[in-house]
Amino acid sequence: MDKGLPTVAIVGRPNVGKSTLMNRILGHREAIVAEQPGVTRDRKEMPAHWQGRPFTVVDTGGWLPRGSGNHATMDGKVSAQSEKSMDQSDVVVMVVDCRVGITSDDEAVAARLRGRKGPTLVAVNKVDGSRHEPLIWEFLRLGLGDPFPVSALHGRGVGDLLDAAMAALPDGPGVEADPDPGSRTLSVAVVGRPNAGKSTLFNRMIGEDRSVVHDQPGTTRDTIDTVVDTELGPIRFVDTAGMRRRARIDQDTEYYSLLRALAAVDRSDIALLVVDATVGVTHQDQRLAERIDAAGCPVVVLLNKWDMLDTEAREAIAVGIDRRLHFLGEAAVLRISALTGKGVNRLLPELREVIAEYRRRIPTQAVNRVLRDAQAAHPAPDGARVLYATQGASDPPTFTLFANRTLPRTYLRYLERRLREAFGLGSVPVKLRVRRRSGE
Ligand code: GDP
Ligand code: GDP
Repeated sequence: MDKGLPTVAIVGRPNVGKSTLMNRILGHREAIVAEQPGVTRDRKEMPAHWQGRPFTVVDTGGWLPRGSGNHATMDGKVSAQSEKSMDQSDVVVMVVDCRVGITSDDEAVAARLRGRKGPTLVAVNKVDGSRHEPLIWEFLRLGLGDPFPVSALHGRGVGDLLDAAMAALPDGPGVEADPDPGSRTLSVAVVGRPNAGKSTLFNRMIGEDRSVVHDQPGTTRDTIDTVVDTELGPIRFVDTAGMRRRARIDQDTEYYSLLRALAAVDRSDIALLVVDATVGVTHQDQRLAERIDAAGCPVVVLLNKWDMLDTEAREAIAVGIDRRLHFLGEAAVLRISALTGKGVNRLLPELREVIAEYRRRIPTQAVNRVLRDAQAAHPAPDGARVLYATQGASDPPTFTLFANRTLPRTYLRYLERRLREAFGLGSVPVKLRVRRRSGE
């Protein structure tokens, strides 16, 4: 394989239209449609380009996972070779046939591809006209993301597919393929107003765990992150420069600390918002929380200095949370004393729970069931309707809704609430993306 050029592999069971698609991509410079069995059985690599970008297309010749289906005709050697080229390719395009639907062979191919590190696109072929378009949604079930309708024969949709393939290349415009989200180090930002107790909390957390602690440069020049080994695995505390030392010389200004906190939040999976409970939830706390929430970062609220509060103050702060932080929904609120350590032990289990929600994948069927019920109970105005939905991404949970027309924002908030309730997504931000589809 040409090491220099990015590669796009085309895979799928026989007869879905891989060769036709390949020809289409190559612009008919190579005629390789199988006229007789065996012609496309060899792996073919062809130079191609799209929008001025050169790449190599790899035809895997009817690749099927070894041992799948009952294909006496499948040559094991071809399969092994195809598998290798698939693993080595930057982007894989899995081709399926909209007229046939999902076969067990398709499922086997998809299962193999779901384990792949790099991006995979699903091309639903033989969508020769718009009346075939609704057929493509079934293929969401393959678990490989939004399907692309194409007609390899007529060229329909192939440009969109190639755009997406180019965007998914490692050095493509604006793409980041996360190699393995599950094993990534969890990043946590400890934020709050000056004097809320961030340093005290941080020092207690590293002290209490007797964990292995090491400093690493952060992404910007003057920041230092601290990685701590905990029972949850390594946790990266973002921008801890001022927190390791017990007595800091500089007292950050409110404004500077806000900017700094937001930069830290941008790099984090979770924010711990430390609130000085002796002061109550202030306007600055509210602003900070709003910005964190808008960044799509889940929040755990820590009411610190709980040891200092009498009963009256404890009641007052509950009101403050309702009033100023209600938009955080069901975000976890922990009452702690960073100074005495009381309540701090509940922090790691809470983080574990939030991150599990954050990374959760909900089966497409369940998502659609909830949306169907929600819409039956309260239909959207003017005949607007969600036709189909899927969880397109986790971190944070992001649902893609395919709707026949624009849905009002209030209605989307209603659907979001129902999804939250149904799947217990209490404290994480949930994102909804809406796509218009002609549908029925
Ligand atoms: P492969 O085995 O996956 O390489 O499939 P081929 O490219 O050989 O195509 C299989 C059959 O499907 C051929 O008869 C093609 O003409 C037909 N085919 C491929 N693409 C399309 C398409 O977009 N629309 C229609 N209607 N037929 C197609
Ligand atoms: P930071 O500016 O947010 O990092 O706040 P510090 O951690 O430096 O804490 C500010 C002051 O609050 C220090 O004097 C701490 O000892 C005190 N403090 C922090 N946490 C608690 C707590 O839980 N209870 C009490 N009573 N004091 C605390």
